[in-house]
Amino acid sequence: MSYADNFSKMQKGFDMGQAIAEADRCLLCHDAPCSKGCPADTDPASFIKKLRFRNVTGAIRTIKTNNILGGACGVLCPTAELCEKECSATGIGQPIAIGKIQRFLVEHAHETGFEVVEKKNQRSEKVAIVGSGPAGLSCAAELAREGFPVTVFEARGEPGGVLRYGVVSYRFDMDFLAAEMADIKKLGVEFKCGSSIDSQNKAEDLLKNSYQAVFLAPGLWDAVRLQEKKDIKGLYGSVAYLEALRDGQLDAFAGKIENKTVAVIGGGSVAMDCIGAAIRLGAKDVYLVYRRSYTQMPAEEDEKIEALNEGIHFLLLNQPIDYVLGDDGGLKGLKLVRTALGDVDASGRRSPVNIEGSEWVLPADLVIEAIGNKADDQSPAWYPQVKLNEKKLIQVDPDTGKTSMDGIFAGGDIVRGPALVVNAVQDGKVAALAIKAYLSQKSEE
Ligand SMILES: Cc1cc2nc3c(=O)[nH]c(=O)nc-3n(C[C@H](O)[C@H](O)[C@H](O)COP(=O)(O)OP(=O)(O)OC[C@H]3O[C@@H](n4cnc5c(N)ncnc54)[C@H](O)[C@@H]3O)c2cc1C
Ligand code: SF4
Repeated sequence: MSYADNFSKMQKGFDMGQAIAEADRCLLCHDAPCSKGCPADTDPASFIKKLRFRNVTGAIRTIKTNNILGGACGVLCPTAELCEKECSATGIGQPIAIGKIQRFLVEHAHETGFEVVEKKNQRSEKVAIVGSGPAGLSCAAELAREGFPVTVFEARGEPGGVLRYGVVSYRFDMDFLAAEMADIKKLGVEFKCGSSIDSQNKAEDLLKNSYQAVFLAPGLWDAVRLQEKKDIKGLYGSVAYLEALRDGQLDAFAGKIENKTVAVIGGGSVAMDCIGAAIRLGAKDVYLVYRRSYTQMPAEEDEKIEALNEGIHFLLLNQPIDYVLGDDGGLKGLKLVRTALGDVDASGRRSPVNIEGSEWVLPADLVIEAIGNKADDQSPAWYPQVKLNEKKLIQVDPDTGKTSMDGIFAGGDIVRGPALVVNAVQDGKVAALAIKAYLSQKSEE
C-alpha cells in the first residue's frame, strides 16, 4: 500500500462564497486592531473591506504587494496568536478567519492568472541572497521589484526552505508553493540551487565577486540532539525525518513505521508535524514525550487538539534520559524519568525537575527527536567578520537587518532563532529596504 495519498494535498480552503460570507461578518472597525496584529504589516482590514465590496483584485493587490508569500502566510500563520487574536479583542463572538480569507484571495489570483506584482525600475547593482526560505524569497522579491538583479544561492535541490523541506505536505503542498514561487520567478530572480555557500569566507567573498550587497538567510538546519549517540538504527532527528518525507521517501519510511511504536520527543510545532506524519504512515502507537505539562507545550492549541483527536498518546512530565538498544544495536526503547514542576525558569515557565528513582522504559521501535534546530557549528567560518551571539545567531540592527560587516545583511531564523514564516518575510522586506538605501547611497559616493 502507498501512503502518498495521506500526504499529497492540504485541506481545501474557502471558496468565493465562503470568503465573502466571512468578510460580511467583519465589523469594519475604525482603527482596526487586526491590522496591528500582523508581524509583516499586512492590512487585513483593508483587504477584507475590499472583498466585502467585491473589489477582489484590489484585495489581492493589498496582500501580495505587501507580502509576496501572502498565500503561505494565510495557510501557516498561527493566526489565533496574531491578527485574529486582535480581532477577537473587539468583542466579536468568533474572530474573522483572516488567514483563510487571505489564502483564498491568493489562490484565486493563481487560478485566474491575475498578476499583481510588477517590476518598477532597472538597477545595475547585483545582490546575492544566501538561502531560499521565506526570508530569502521575500528579500529577493522586494529587491527584484525595485529592479535589482538578484541571485539566490540555495544549498538544497529546490527553493523554498522549510516550506519545501520542513512543513509536512498535508499542511502545505508543493503545488501551492510552486504557484507562489512562480510569482517570484516572474520578477526575474535567478535561483542557483545545489549551491551551498558554506566554506571559509565564502559568504563574505560574494561581495568581491561582483555582488554589491549580500543578504544572509540560511535558517537553522542542524537538529539539536539529546545526546551524541546519533547513529542508532531507528533514531532520527526531526530535520532528516521531515526532509526525507518531503523528498519522496514516504513508502520507504512507511516500511519502517507501519504497525510500529513511535515516540516523538518535543512539544512544539515541529514535534506535531512529526507525530502527524507517523500516524499517516500507519504507526500502531505514537507517543509524544514532553518533559513539562500540557499547557506549557509551545505547540498551538489547535495542533494539540488535532493530535489528541488523531489518537496520539501524550506522555507529559517525562524527561528522556537514554536509549535502550537490542542485541543487534537497534533501538528497543526510550528510558525516561518522571518530572515534577519546580520554579519558574528563564523561559517564563515552571522548570521540570526529575523525580529520583522514577526511571522507566517506554518500548519503542522508532524515536524522533524534535527538540529544536540550531545554527550549523561551522557557520562562523563562512562569514568570519559578521558578529554572532553565543548561539551562533547573526547579530543585526533590527530596523535594517545590517550586520557588523559593511554590505552584509541578514534575517529570518538565523537572526531570531526558531520563529515564524511571517517573521522571516518581514525580515526580508526590512533588509530589502535597507539594501536599496545602502546601494543608492553607494552610487552617490
Ligand atoms: C517542521 C517545521 C514546521 C514549521 N511550521 C511552521 C508553521 O506552521 N507556521 C509558521 O509560521 N512557521 C513554521 N515553522 C517556522 C518557519 O518555517 C521558519 O521560521 C521559517 O521558514 C524561517 O525562514 P528562513 O528563511 O529564515 O529559513 P529557512 O526556511 O530555514 O530557509 C533557509 C534556506 O537556506 C538554505 N541554506 C542553508 N544554509 C545554506 C548555505 N550555506 N548556502 C546556501 N543555502 C543555504 C536552506 O537549505 C534553506 O532552504 C516551521 C518550522 C519547521 C522546522
Ligand atoms: S500575514 Fe499572517 S498574521 Fe499577517 S494578517 Fe495575514 S494571516 Fe494574519
